[in-house]
Amino acid sequence: MLLAIITLLGYYAAQTTEDIKRNTENILADNYNSVKYAQKMFWALHHFQVDSLLAVATFEEYLVLQKNNICENTEEQYTEKLEQEFERYKTESSKENLIALSETINTLILLNGNAIEKKSEFATQTAHQALKWMIVLAVICVVIAILMLIKIPQILTTPIKKLSEGILEISNHNYDKRLSFDEKSEFGKVASSFNNMAQELAQFQESSMAHIISTKQYLEIVINSIDEPIIGLDNQKQILFVNNIASSILNISSEKMIKKSALDLSLTNDLLRRLIKGVDQEISDEPLKIYTNDKESYFEVHYLSLPENSGTVIMLNNITRFKELDNAKTNFISVISHELKTPIAAIMMSLQLLKDNRIGAMNDEQANLAQSISDNSDRLLSISSELLKMTQVEAGVLQLSPKITKPIELINYAIGATRVLADKFECNIEVDYPETIDKLFIDSEKIAWVLTNLLSNAIHYSSDNSRVIVGVKQIEDKIEIYVRDFGKGIDARYHKTIFDRYFRVPGTKVQGSGLGLAISKDFVEAHGGTIRIESELGQGSCFIISLAKT
Ligand code: ADP
Repeated sequence: MLLAIITLLGYYAAQTTEDIKRNTENILADNYNSVKYAQKMFWALHHFQVDSLLAVATFEEYLVLQKNNICENTEEQYTEKLEQEFERYKTESSKENLIALSETINTLILLNGNAIEKKSEFATQTAHQALKWMIVLAVICVVIAILMLIKIPQILTTPIKKLSEGILEISNHNYDKRLSFDEKSEFGKVASSFNNMAQELAQFQESSMAHIISTKQYLEIVINSIDEPIIGLDNQKQILFVNNIASSILNISSEKMIKKSALDLSLTNDLLRRLIKGVDQEISDEPLKIYTNDKESYFEVHYLSLPENSGTVIMLNNITRFKELDNAKTNFISVISHELKTPIAAIMMSLQLLKDNRIGAMNDEQANLAQSISDNSDRLLSISSELLKMTQVEAGVLQLSPKITKPIELINYAIGATRVLADKFECNIEVDYPETIDKLFIDSEKIAWVLTNLLSNAIHYSSDNSRVIVGVKQIEDKIEIYVRDFGKGIDARYHKTIFDRYFRVPGTKVQGSGLGLAISKDFVEAHGGTIRIESELGQGSCFIISLAKT
């Protein structure tokens, strides 16, 4: 439309300019020439008296030109009249004829002058009118351009805005969003493509939703069919899933737990609180004792951290059966080791009697056999007493009778108890005892047993003629009693397992049960103390007991 108006405006401007040009040319070509010829003829009349021949020639020349330049209505009539009057003047050059001639020339000049004026006025009028129309058309153009300037972006942006709103809805998973634009417009096509896409996404969502639901149901069946308790938490400790057995030991229905904060629920549930505690912090790996179905059950708790910190799965492993078997084993060992003591004591008593010369002298071979029986009986007694101690610890019936004890009393006891052994291996036992040292509040019998065991190990696992140092140090409020030997030492890779029950360093030739250090650890820890090892292969070992001073 704007193009049409501008074309019209251009055409009109060209047409008007052409009109003005033509009018101006007319003025110049016709009327102006007539005036010019008339003036020349006028000049010729005035030179008639001076040079009549030149004057006549000039007059006739311009008269001919004038005759061919008739452009006004009455101009031809006056030109003819002029010709006639000139002919008359040529024959009779009177004053009257000259005046008549001059008047006719003047009339011609006036006629053309008026015409010039009229045409010039017309040209001016045409120019004015053209200017007016051009201004009107220019204003219309400007108004249209402004309207388009305002409207066109609106026309363009409104659908784009609607489209971007639609895309936003889709990105927010609102697949019901549809767009409607004029079907024929370009945006109509975009809208129909958008609507198709939204519809397909909605269908996809429905199908994937159905898939997710069926997968969820399947997982629920799997989790519920596992006969060990499982609880799934997200990273905010909200319960995501819990199987039937877990809800039964927690005594809360799964409906009351799913999507609930485990922290909130744990406020009224001790077991859940205990389980949640282990999600963030290290807790003891002691089995969990739970009273369900009128009996005690034991569970090992495992925490499975999910990738990218997305949550934790708490899995409980029912070890009640193993615990029962372990208890049966402990009972059995306890009974056996206890029952063994009497026959061993009887054997030892009989040996004493056998060694008595009053019964009869033994030959050397018999004496050696008797000694071997005595040594093995000692070993049997020590093993059975170690086993008994172990079963006491395991059964949790370890009773402490603490009393204030000087550390030197323990050392003296241990040295006394291992004197025979030390003499046998020609081991030199040194004592490192500071002048002042605080006392301990301990079951001296138990700690003395620990020290004896350490000293006995130090002698056993060192070569003959070696030295062993038994010492005490006071470090702030702790008293450390150590036994250092310079024997073969213990490889660092066994330092962690050395205190485990029945553990013996592979390749150990000296006979033993692997229980001494385990019992020592239990005894020391029962006092709230610690026992640790510092050892290097080939450099000897140092076992350190740390106990609180009184
Ligand atoms: P046992 O001495 O009856 O085997 P222990 O629990 O006292 O049981 O010791 C466990 C193991 O540790 C021993 O079998 C031995 O291999 C190692 N061990 C203990 N004390 C020492 C020591 N002082 N030097 C080297 N090895 C040692």
